[in-house]
Order: sequence, then structure tokens, then C-alpha cells
Amino acid sequence: MIKWEERWHPLRQEWVIIAAHRQDRPWHGDVVAKQTPRDTPAYIKDCYLCPGNVRVRGVRNDDYDGIFVFDNDHPCVGPDAPSDLEAPSGIYRNRPANGLARVICYSPKHNSSLSELSVPQIVNLLDAWSAQYTELGARPEVNHVLTFENRGEVVGVSNTHPHCQIYATNFVFKTIEIEASAARRHYEVTGHVLFQDILSAERSDGRRVVFENSSSIAFVPYFARYAYECYVAPLATHARLSDLSRSERIDFAEALKELLVRYDNLWQMPFPYVMVLHHAPTDDGDYGAFHFHIEFHPPLRKPNLMKYLAGPEIGGGNFLSDTMPEEKAEELRNSGGRVG
Ligand SMILES: [Zn+2]
Ligand SMILES: [Zn+2]
Repeated sequence: MIKWEERWHPLRQEWVIIAAHRQDRPWHGDVVAKQTPRDTPAYIKDCYLCPGNVRVRGVRNDDYDGIFVFDNDHPCVGPDAPSDLEAPSGIYRNRPANGLARVICYSPKHNSSLSELSVPQIVNLLDAWSAQYTELGARPEVNHVLTFENRGEVVGVSNTHPHCQIYATNFVFKTIEIEASAARRHYEVTGHVLFQDILSAERSDGRRVVFENSSSIAFVPYFARYAYECYVAPLATHARLSDLSRSERIDFAEALKELLVRYDNLWQMPFPYVMVLHHAPTDDGDYGAFHFHIEFHPPLRKPNLMKYLAGPEIGGGNFLSDTMPEEKAEELRNSGGRVG
């Protein structure tokens, strides 16, 4: 069947082309190497993230047994960013890359992963994410705290020790800026929270909902750009993770776990993704209509097939999706519930 349409992405304010009939076209390009099997030990002597090991600049990691946070040894933004920059010519502008970059290890176990943490352990991680957001966001030079995990070699991660990164920057990252302004505009025009309207549309349709409990939901959005793209969100509007109550955090941790386990079950392999926390910027703007959520952008559309960004995406700036979000959500829903 030919499934061909354009879908509006209300958060990014752009069109996504859905051309699902292209998914099975003949393909002779690169295939992705099979992920390393899970026979990795819990401790690796030369891993810079394992407890007690020495990192690149000679700092020794704590002998931690839960979550471990440290300043990135190779920061892209930092308090010591050079300030004596060469002035560019003409119309060009520059400024120091002020901010802070940190790393959060989820677990002392090298061979673990976010999907393998228990719900209480994920709640601890949510608390750590909140605390980092609050602490870093309070710094006068920090206008935004971006927390993300890159998982898998296909997104450039060679160290499989479970961890994420934080970039606390003096500017607001583009996607968040667009989402925040879309939310503000939608609220001015309709009096509604944009993300609540998205949640109502998703829940009334139901086909793209992967998991839902009393206060959280995981779904493949109608306008998904990647085949297995998923959002995890609290049902109530909170601009930041730190505003979630204890019981909302437990529900949210469960929804995350349910999704992550389905990802890993889908092809019986550690499922690669880029995970990003989308919470309100910390620049004193008006974010009353901003709805905290986590986005997953998995790069694969089949076990060994990358979604390559090419002409439409890189050249034109709009996504062409080769799959139907409804079908991908169904695959995830059916890929088994919780393990462990
Ligand atoms: Zn390690
Ligand atoms: Zn978002």
C-alpha cells in the first residue's frame, strides 16, 4: 500500500514527509555492524568511567556505587573558556563558550544500561538530573541545561559504560528555543498548552501510545521524524523535571523503563538512540506553557540499517520518514513488557 503524506510537526514548526512505501526499496549501502554481545564484565580496568579508575587528566573517580557526576575532562563549554578571542572581520560575531559540561554515570557497572536499572534506581537518576538542572541553571552565565545520552556506536559512542552528558550553556539550544516559542504562541492564540493538545490527540487516537500509567505516557508522535522516535512525558504540565512530585517521578521512571525495555527487546540488542531531556531554559523567560518531556531519536530503521540524513534533511532542513509512526508504535507496544 502506498502511504504518502505530509505531517505538521507542531513543536518544531515544520513539515515531515512520510513516504512509507520507500522502506523496502532495494538497498545496497552500508549496513551497521552487529552490536557487541553482552559478555562484557562489570568492571573494566581502562574505562575512564568505572569506579576508582584514573581519568585523562589524572583525576581519580570516586569508588561510587550509585550515580556519579563529574566535570567533563574535554568540555566544549567551560568556566575557563578563552575570553581573549580574535575579533572576526565584517559582519561576523563571536564570544567565549561559557558554561559547564558534566558527565553522569548511571551505575558503577560497566555492563549495565539505563534500560537495566530498576525503577527506584531510575528515580534516583531523575533526582540527579533535576539537581544538576537546578544547580547549573542557577548560575548567572547559564541560560540552558541540555542533558542527553548518546547510546551505541552508530551515534559515535565507543564507551558503553552507561552515562549521559550535560551541556550547561550561555545560549538556548535551537530545538528548545523553537519549542518554547511554539508553546508560547499556541498559548497566546488558543489559551491551551501546546503539549497538552498533542497529548489529547495522541490519547484519543491511541494507535501511537506505547505505554501509559496514571501520570506518565510514552508515545511515538504523529509527526515522528525517525522510525522509532518516542516521547516520554508526564501527563500534567511541568516546565521542568524538578517540578514533578515524588509519585509523578515514580510513574515517569516506570514509563521510561517500559519504553527502554521494549527498545532492547525489539531486535534483541542494545538499541541505539540519542536521548534528550527537553526542559525549560533557565534564562528567566516565560515558560509557563512549556511541558517537560524526554525525546528519543533512534538512528536505525531496521536492525542493520541507518536512517541517513541526506538531501531533504541536511540540504533542505525537513525530514523524510520512510516509515509509518502507527506501525512502529505497534511494533514497540508488542515487543514485550518489562524485563527484570
Ligand atoms: Zn566502565
Ligand atoms: Zn521536545
